[in-house]
Amino acid sequence: MKLVVATHNQGKLAEFRRMLATLNVEILSATEAGISEFPPENGTTYAENALLKAGYATLTTGLPALADDSGLEVDILSGAPGIFSARYGGKLDDGERIAYLLDQLKGIPKGARSASFVCAVVIATPAGEVKVFHGECRGEILQGPRGSGGFGYDPIFYSLDLTKSFAEAGDEEKQRVSHRGRALQHFLDWALTPAAKTTMSETMPRRDGKY
Ligand code: IMP
Repeated sequence: MKLVVATHNQGKLAEFRRMLATLNVEILSATEAGISEFPPENGTTYAENALLKAGYATLTTGLPALADDSGLEVDILSGAPGIFSARYGGKLDDGERIAYLLDQLKGIPKGARSASFVCAVVIATPAGEVKVFHGECRGEILQGPRGSGGFGYDPIFYSLDLTKSFAEAGDEEKQRVSHRGRALQHFLDWALTPAAKTTMSETMPRRDGKY
């Protein structure tokens, strides 16, 4: 069986590949599956945006497709950047987005910088099956970048589970506690059950109903 991972984000792709290695499927990246661009992510929730990508990938390739949509929610910024994390402040690269976020939090003391990484993973199949899995992890936004691993906001996200920044953590360590790792673990648990072929309902609704 082949499965398309519907992303062009190399950091995410590496995380998907590592986690899905336990499944007996051939993983194709979006590029390998011939997808050069996805439609605009104009959903209002992570699940909708993930479905836009997974749905587009399955319709254009005829293969089952897995996509995620994720973001960083800073409590004191009322959940921003949230679903706009990849475009925060209109900034074009990770370094600029980090600088912009640190600027928004200028003067905010350590105890008031709590945040969550949030992720929805969606599997869509050519037969029209759709299933959504969620994951979340808690942390704090550091005063400045720490560590050199990972991608995106990893250098300024201090994980409460790991007691270090995600950029200071090893790949496996991050995966064990991260929003994407947790959502993918729910997907893996489901993918290994006999119900996987037919089930279409959503699992694990988020506590605050935001999805
Ligand atoms: P999207 O899911 O492709 O819309 O992008 C979400 C954005 O959130 C990414 O471009 C990153 O900036 C950020 N993000 C999502 N997951 C992570 C992560 O695990 N580490 C760091 N940043 C992340």
